[in-house]
This record gives sequence, structure tokens and C-alpha cells, in this order.
Amino acid sequence: MAVQWVLVVHALLTLLVVVSFLCGQWPIFQGTIVEKIHYFITVGAYDYFLRFVGIVFGSRGRNAILSVEQYCCDRPNPTLQIIYFAIVGVTYFFIAKSSFVYIPGYYISGVHRYTSFLAVGVGVLLFLLTSFSDPGTVTAENVSGYISVYPYDNIIYTEKECYTCKIPRPARSKHCRVCDRCVARFDHHCGWMNNCIGEKNTRYFMAFLLWHFFLCLYGTVFLGLVLAGELKNRKVIYILTVYYGIENSFSGLFPHVVQWLLGSFNTQILLMVFLAVVSLLLAGFFGYHAHLCLTNTTTNETFKWQDYISWKRKLNEAKKSSAALKAGISSMNGEGKPPESKWRMFFHKSLSKNKEDAVKDNMYDRGVFHNVCEIMCPLSGRLPSMDVKSE
Ligand SMILES: [Zn+2]
Ligand SMILES: [Zn+2]
Repeated sequence: MAVQWVLVVHALLTLLVVVSFLCGQWPIFQGTIVEKIHYFITVGAYDYFLRFVGIVFGSRGRNAILSVEQYCCDRPNPTLQIIYFAIVGVTYFFIAKSSFVYIPGYYISGVHRYTSFLAVGVGVLLFLLTSFSDPGTVTAENVSGYISVYPYDNIIYTEKECYTCKIPRPARSKHCRVCDRCVARFDHHCGWMNNCIGEKNTRYFMAFLLWHFFLCLYGTVFLGLVLAGELKNRKVIYILTVYYGIENSFSGLFPHVVQWLLGSFNTQILLMVFLAVVSLLLAGFFGYHAHLCLTNTTTNETFKWQDYISWKRKLNEAKKSSAALKAGISSMNGEGKPPESKWRMFFHKSLSKNKEDAVKDNMYDRGVFHNVCEIMCPLSGRLPSMDVKSE
């Protein structure tokens, strides 16, 4: 029994490390252990490694490592796309190899051999669609169309030119450093897809996330039903209670059933834990992006709004303190009103703080219905002159 628990703990730790490595930067993990492990794996440990290489192999070794790093992180490359296919392929292979022999089972029919393949196929298609579709590249030919559908809000977007492309930069667009092009309604550059997520492929990206969430859930439930069916077929509960005399209650049977499952079906249990964790991650990621879509904000804009709000707060504070300084000087000169009572000042402060506080005033948010329509049917596609040129 102890050995099996060691195996479970080992599997969970491995998962934690893998999840931290792959998803530690996601906003939902901000400030958690996952983010810290991610930092250590991606930056901290790498720094030590670079220093080590520098000491052992000298500057030539160090430069070789740095050029590999540049290739992997700063230039478009299919490394993560290959890893995606490896994860999907290996997971599907192990599920098929370990569990297809048990279907049709007590709770599940044999049709899942085909539906599971179909479900994975659709997932892969959505991945390819997001990876290889145009995210909405802004060019000299279509830039005027983009400017007409994305007006400047003069808060986070003002009229500017892209230094690299030498064309005007429409509001909500950004020059992607990795792909070296301007992308309309830029959300983020996705390393997994090796593509930007922008105006024209956010819909595919959202479909990809939602589909993969259900895919992982499907796998978890499928494996659960396979195991439950085997428990029933092999009369495990009956044997445990009648032959081994174990009390017929949940708390009495649970540890024995778990022990039996870990002994006979450890591959399936590991796959189930893996799929359940990934489906939770995908649910969180989809939820975060769905919230952005419903409020018509992009990931890029969340950073811009954060900067704007903190800048505005500092400005307000500076204004207040300069006003207080002026008031202090005039009261020293015997001018002005008598000093306010502390109570009054407290309430006055909290009231004025609310009034002057910087708020996110997103002019692109036109209500949930319009925002969703904009994702489904991008604004530039509605211009008859744009559709051809931007393809
Ligand atoms: Zn550009
Ligand atoms: Zn990009």
C-alpha cells in the first residue's frame, strides 16, 4: 500500500512541475507556487545552467546556448506545436492501448472507439486552423480599412506609426516582435500555436480552448466509466465484502477499492488525474478569455489599462499633494479657511478619492451581444473592400 501512495505522490509532483512549466505564466496562477516553480524552471535554473556552461566551456559554449535560446523564444518556430502533437498523440495512444480492450463495458459502449478518435481529430483541426490562419495582419494596403473600423480612444490608443513596418498603427493593433508584423486587435502571441492571436483567429482560438476542455473531460469520464464497469464485472465489491469480510460501507470499502484500482489499473488512474488537471487548467484559461471577449478587451489591453490606471492614480496623488502644499502655504500666510476637522477630512478624502479615481473606460465594449458578434464576425471582414486584400 505504501509503495502505491509513493507512486501517487510522485505522479502528482511530476504533474505540478509539468503544469508549472507549461502554464505558470497564466494570470490565474499569479502569486501562487505554480508561478514560482515556473520562474525557477524557466529563468532561475537557466541562469545557473548558463553560469555553469560559462565556467566549464567558456564563452563559446555560452554563446551557443544563447543562440539556441534566441531561436526558440524570439523567432517563430514549431517546437511547442510539435510538443502539442506529442502530448495529444501519446495520451491518446495510452488511453487506446490501456482501455479500449474493456469496451464495450458495463457502463460504456464500443462506439467510443470511434467517437474518441473523431473528437481528437476535431481538436487537432481546430489547432491547425488557429495555427495557420491569418490573425489579421496589417499591411500598407489594408491599414486604412483597419483605421476606419478601429477608432482611437485617445486613452490607451493614440495615432502612431509602427517604427518597424513604417505604416500607421490602427487602434488595438500591435507589432508582434516574434512574427515581425502588425496584427489587428492583437491579443497575444501564442507559442503553442506559433501564431499571433488577433482579430481574425480569436474565434478559432476560443473554439480550440473550449473543445480541448470538453475533450479532457470526455477522457476523464470515459476512463472513470471503464474502471467502474470493471469493478462491477469482476464483482470486486462482492468479493471484498463476502470473502474478505470487509464492512459494506463507503468508508470501509473505499481504501480497498482504491488499492485494487491502483494495483490493477495504474495507467488509467494516472491518465485520469492528468486529464482532470488539464481540463481544470483549460476551464480556467477559457473562462479568463471568455471574460475578455464579453467585455471586448484583449490580453494586450489588460496590461495597457493596468499601466494607465496606475499612472492616473499617481497623477491624482501628485495633484492632491501639491494642492495640500498650496493650502498649507496659504494658511501659514493667514489666508484661507480654518482647518477642517479630522472626521470631515476623512470622509471628504474617501468621497473625493472615489470621484477622481481612474477607471477603465473601454469605448470598444458595446455590450455582450455586440462583443460576441465582433469575435464571431471580425469588424474588418464586414468591409467589402477589406476582405480580399487582407487574406
Ligand atoms: Zn509593425
Ligand atoms: Zn506573433
